[in-house]
Amino acid sequence: MHAFRFESLTLPPEAEEMRRKVRAFLQEERDTGRYAAHRTSWSTFDPEFSKRAAKAGFIGMTWPKQYGGGEYSNLQRFVVTEEMLAAGAPGGAHWIADRQSGPQILKHGSERARQLILPKIAAGECYFGIGMSEPDSGSDLAAARTKADKVEGGWVINGTKIWTSNAHRVHYLIVLARTEPLSENRHAGLSQFIVDTSSEGIEIRPIMNLSGGHEFNEVFFKSCFVPDDMMIGKPGEGWTRVTGELAFERAGPDRFMSDIRLLVELVDKIGREPNERQAVEIGRLAAHFATLRRMSSSIAGLLERGESPVTEAALVKDVGTAFEREVPEMVRKLLPIEASLDDDDEYSQAMAHVLLHAPSFTIRGGTPEILRGMIARGLGLR
Ligand SMILES: Cc1cc2nc3c(=O)[nH]c(=O)nc-3n(C[C@H](O)[C@H](O)[C@H](O)COP(=O)(O)OP(=O)(O)OC[C@H]3O[C@@H](n4cnc5c(N)ncnc54)[C@H](O)[C@@H]3O)c2cc1C
Repeated sequence: MHAFRFESLTLPPEAEEMRRKVRAFLQEERDTGRYAAHRTSWSTFDPEFSKRAAKAGFIGMTWPKQYGGGEYSNLQRFVVTEEMLAAGAPGGAHWIADRQSGPQILKHGSERARQLILPKIAAGECYFGIGMSEPDSGSDLAAARTKADKVEGGWVINGTKIWTSNAHRVHYLIVLARTEPLSENRHAGLSQFIVDTSSEGIEIRPIMNLSGGHEFNEVFFKSCFVPDDMMIGKPGEGWTRVTGELAFERAGPDRFMSDIRLLVELVDKIGREPNERQAVEIGRLAAHFATLRRMSSSIAGLLERGESPVTEAALVKDVGTAFEREVPEMVRKLLPIEASLDDDDEYSQAMAHVLLHAPSFTIRGGTPEILRGMIARGLGLR
């Protein structure tokens, strides 16, 4: 049976140096009033913030310089990610491109796609969305029915994607489509494509979320042409490519720090003399947080060694998002307040922001049932 190893990792001096750099950048952003940490998070879409973060060198950090990257290590990138989250920075415009689409193109895209797209992502000017889920294919991605037919010079896509975050404001989607008819091996015959959202044959319709905001979309492809060199990998490799992309998506600190600002506000509000219950619960949450951080940084170490820790990433995503869901519940018990986005009080605002988004934390990027199935398989239990 396979056993997990989450090796302890001591961050090297250059990672700590990077921490000082990103903290100074974020401090200046807050001091000049460019964002309000208690109301924003990694999914807040703010292109101007992304452009400034890129200028400071915080996007595409690990990529080669020839594609606009900084040639930093995964550990230096890890530090920047956790500092952005701790500061509640609004990195939503570049987040997906930096976290998964760019690395996917770098690893498996054509040379033209690399040269055309990666420098723009690293400049904070090009954003991506994820075209995986379909109306009848969310958890069961292999059931995807969107299809791509071969034509001269490329492929023609027909089908529908759903829950596509930010499709209405990103430049590209990475779309999973069937390039061969469904066969007994459901994982065969799928391929991934980089689709320009300004192409002909794409219609994007909004779906409002719980807080009344427009993040989600339904995306219709009607004979949408994609050139050959915008395929990721080779025809039929889609299943391997998409599971690799999900490993980038699941292991980072964004899977346990989405509402960390609320915890910080709670600790500030309680002050230096907590009652016994408050001390016990805050201590427990802090211990969970430290464990998650160790697991996630250990995965950054595996990535640095060129490994693809798919099962470990599923574990971090499952345990991490359960932690994120627990934070508002615990906060509500320890220091009850009337939560409102319109309140002057930052704690009340932070609570309202989290309450409206927390239900999605365990769904986006894979539900607990699916992740636990993957973990069981990784452990050789099924
Ligand atoms: C905030 C947010 C942002 C999102 N952004 C994107 C995006 O940008 N791009 C994108 O492609 N998708 C996106 N999604 C979609 C997300 O990935 C799916 O919602 C998720 O994978 C679940 O799929 P589903 O909604 O079809 O639910 P279903 O797959 O229908 O699942 C419904 C329930 O059944 C359970 N279930 C399903 N199969 C099994 C099984 N085999 N065994 C046990 N239980 C099972 C699930 O755990 C779940 O509880 C987003 C979702 C959210 C909430």
